[in-house]
Amino acid sequence: MSVRDLIILGCSSQQPTRTRNHGAYLFRWNGEGLLFDPGEGTQRQFIFANVAPTCVTRMFISHFHGDHCLGLGSMLMRLNLDKVTHPIHCYYPASGKVYFDRLRFGCIYHENITVIEHPVKEEGLVHEDDHFRIEAKFLEHGIENVGWRVQEKDWRKFDKQQLDAHGVKGPLVRDLEKAGQVKIDGRIVTLDQVSTLKKGDVLAVVIDTTYTQAAVDLAKDAKLLLCESTYLERHRQLALDHHHLTAKQAAEIAKKAGAELLILTHFSARYQDLEEFEKEARAVFPNTLVAEDFKTFPFPR
Ligand SMILES: [Zn+2]
Ligand SMILES: [Zn+2]
Repeated sequence: MSVRDLIILGCSSQQPTRTRNHGAYLFRWNGEGLLFDPGEGTQRQFIFANVAPTCVTRMFISHFHGDHCLGLGSMLMRLNLDKVTHPIHCYYPASGKVYFDRLRFGCIYHENITVIEHPVKEEGLVHEDDHFRIEAKFLEHGIENVGWRVQEKDWRKFDKQQLDAHGVKGPLVRDLEKAGQVKIDGRIVTLDQVSTLKKGDVLAVVIDTTYTQAAVDLAKDAKLLLCESTYLERHRQLALDHHHLTAKQAAEIAKKAGAELLILTHFSARYQDLEEFEKEARAVFPNTLVAEDFKTFPFPR
């Protein structure tokens, strides 16, 4: 099975620090690379993470504050330099089209890759294929800002014993999966006799918002929720003033949504030590982890 993990390429908010780069989050999943909010310096962060940027297939910009998009232009140029042959799909709030264009065409280079833009005008489904179903909802950040819910398709788990018992082996397994049934020695074997349908996993990305039901909806029953927590509760008023969340509020979203795992990110430069974030969130939602540049979080099936 292909790799399934989240690589943190940066986890600062507006202002990077010595230890935290502008945010950027890479999900390697089902043979694709989904890159969320590439901030300034993302291209170089790939090098430090020892990951080839060419794995990126889709880029998502939640909103056009610099810490979420300044790396877009250089990432597109890098993919161009690497001559990737697959298309690069880009999703962003439609009202930010002018900023997208400026970032994409901000300097001289000869574009020879295929960039497919998906400006998000309204909430709901933005993409669906054999790999993923991707939904968007608007968050509350004072400007138009999109949160994401990515769900993989339901999949079949085969039961080795049942396959053996029914004599299904080799290419017959693929035929069975395709057709729903196969005939073996005059007997019909159906998919349900030898496998069970498993629900595809859901990942949610909620970055830059105040507390909103939309965030809970996006993260409903998610295996992993990547959520901003710019501030701690002791700076709750600042969080409100700047349209952000505290660690406790992020935990409340994860709890209400019934998520399995919460990963906190997008930390204000005022905090050096992030231990308090983990502590504050865990009091509400125990299964909380804290992002750190170059940390990898696997999410196996
Ligand atoms: Zn931000
Ligand atoms: Zn912002």
